[in-house]
Amino acid sequence: MGGKSTPTLPAAENKLPKEGKDAVVKKDRANLAPSNRPDASKSWTIEDSELLYRIEGWGEPYFSINAAGHVTVSPKGDRGGSLDLFDLVNALRARNLGLPLLIRFSDILQHRIERLNACFAKAIARYNYQGSYRGVFPVKCNQQRHLVEDLVKFGRPHQFGLEAGSKPELMIALAMLDTPGSLLICNGYKDQEYIETAMLATRLGQTPLIVLEQIEEVQLVIDVAKSLGISPILGVRAKLSTQGVGRWGVSSGDRAKFGLTIPEIITAVDQLRSAEMLDCLQLLHFHIGSQISSINAIKEAIQEASKIYVELAQLGANMKYLDVGGGLGVDYDGSQTNFHASKNYHLQNYANDIVAEVKEACDERQVTVPTLISESGRAIASHQSVLIFDVLSTSDVPTGSPPPLQDEEHPIIRYLWETYESITSENYQEAFHDATQFKEEALSRFNFGYLSLTQRARAERLYWACCEKILGIARQQEYVPDDMEDLEKIMASIYYINMSVFQSAPDSWAIDQLFPIMPLHRLDQEPTCRGILADLTCDSDGKIDQFIDLRDVKHVLELHPFKSGEPYYLGLFLSGAYQEIMGNLHNLFGDTNAVHIQLTPKGYQIEHVVKGDTMTEVLGYVQYDAEDLVESIRKRCEQALQEKKITIQESQRLLQTYEQSLGRYTYLSSF
Ligand SMILES: *Cc1c(COP(=O)(O)O)cnc(C)c1O
Repeated sequence: MGGKSTPTLPAAENKLPKEGKDAVVKKDRANLAPSNRPDASKSWTIEDSELLYRIEGWGEPYFSINAAGHVTVSPKGDRGGSLDLFDLVNALRARNLGLPLLIRFSDILQHRIERLNACFAKAIARYNYQGSYRGVFPVKCNQQRHLVEDLVKFGRPHQFGLEAGSKPELMIALAMLDTPGSLLICNGYKDQEYIETAMLATRLGQTPLIVLEQIEEVQLVIDVAKSLGISPILGVRAKLSTQGVGRWGVSSGDRAKFGLTIPEIITAVDQLRSAEMLDCLQLLHFHIGSQISSINAIKEAIQEASKIYVELAQLGANMKYLDVGGGLGVDYDGSQTNFHASKNYHLQNYANDIVAEVKEACDERQVTVPTLISESGRAIASHQSVLIFDVLSTSDVPTGSPPPLQDEEHPIIRYLWETYESITSENYQEAFHDATQFKEEALSRFNFGYLSLTQRARAERLYWACCEKILGIARQQEYVPDDMEDLEKIMASIYYINMSVFQSAPDSWAIDQLFPIMPLHRLDQEPTCRGILADLTCDSDGKIDQFIDLRDVKHVLELHPFKSGEPYYLGLFLSGAYQEIMGNLHNLFGDTNAVHIQLTPKGYQIEHVVKGDTMTEVLGYVQYDAEDLVESIRKRCEQALQEKKITIQESQRLLQTYEQSLGRYTYLSSF
């Protein structure tokens, strides 16, 4: 691409630390969270919260904070209308929708579709591209019926289509997509049934494009086409040599799971030509992975694919479509870098690069430019859903003034006391090492029987007191040495949250994906605590201890002191892609309640309520019949009654609670 068309990022990008070209990047090292505040002497403002939780970075234009210190949602972006998320949650709870609660904003979905289409339209105009853009939504990203229905509806003006990656997804796409002229991309492994169904759909006026992903599929497609007498639109998925970056980098390259190598593509062309079906080959597809954080990787892939595209045209294929797959990223941490939780480009840059590169490659060889297709899932579906959950309780390390020294105190305790007394801003690092060493020595003396249990307790209290004092000093410093990074983690409170990471944020557990998480309220107050989140499951992996940060990753989250009896709501944002379907039933925590909210001139309306699983439902997944279970408890009650181990009142109460519980939500109802 000539200098003419190199898109540039707005100035904000240039202020950030520049990364090496495509290295997988660790952003600048995180130090102890220096209070991310311009002026710590002033009282806390909502601007401080904005800065701290980076809501502008990842939330624009949908999420912000209002004067009451609550998160607000503007589901139509800058086009007006916003809702106070805290008030909304309270209103939904009043309708008996318990937490955790997934709120989907259909207007956000619409806004995302329009934005994607507008960016391509702008790029097409800018480069005078003589073709069009026809996006599709990859169903695998979120298969929920209400969402797919909305997608089809909102996509209608843009002839937005669907992509299926499996037989069941094909069933969804065939039945739901009714927009004339929109595309139905058929990906994934295929058998005869899949291919037949897809081909027959042309008779219903649909435009299925069957993408050959395995060389064996070529003959199968030829045979089915001949037997049905249908001339299908075919595509090939190429294994590009360009590697994606980051977690899904392995989706491309010669050893990728899907797609045809270049020699296989040539074989497919020959096979189709001998079957007199080369005119059916109209599409080239590639997918280099999801959440491509670097624009360079995208550009390189487009360059390679464009070259393959023109070559296929010149080999005699009737080329009309170029499908660039998914990969369009989401800036989860708002840093605008090529860190895995971010992306160093905007939607407009993405569209510009695709349009410009394809046009240049086609112009060079006088090939007609293709209709461009992207299969952007994450970028369309992420923003629309927010998971809301509440804090149930917290657990803190013991802090406060240390226990006074006793007469004839054990030397190790005296050393700890002296360390505590002598901590200053000059020696705090050394003091931390000393305190840690003395605490370890105290532990080993205890194990050898030289220290009593109460002495050990005093030693530990002193150690925590040292850590607290050192942390107080460290947080005031501009620079804190790396070896002290653990201090925040050691001192972090545990916030017990009413949700299951395995059910609602599986990627946080499985692949350490970062999601923005923040309180929905109290944002006009300073969050003076530092915590990690522990979920309801009895699994030590059921926690969240990595949080977004401008630099690298934070290991503790700033939170407000939990007041028992008062709700404290947290939101996990940008969770609309992949999480719901990949969530699992660990500990039998089921699907959460979900609601679809649409903005109206007067406020909002609840379009759909999808009740979360009841205990009866999750028990049914593992083949327990609720009635059988009740029956077995009833029998045991009878037996206990006979043996006079239980009173009739107790047995009635037990049976009643047991039966009622079965019909209830699997999560805790806190207040
Ligand atoms: C998963 C997948 C997508 C969606 O990718 P996103 O990064 O979510 O946009 C698109 N195409 C194919 C073939 C996929 O496997």
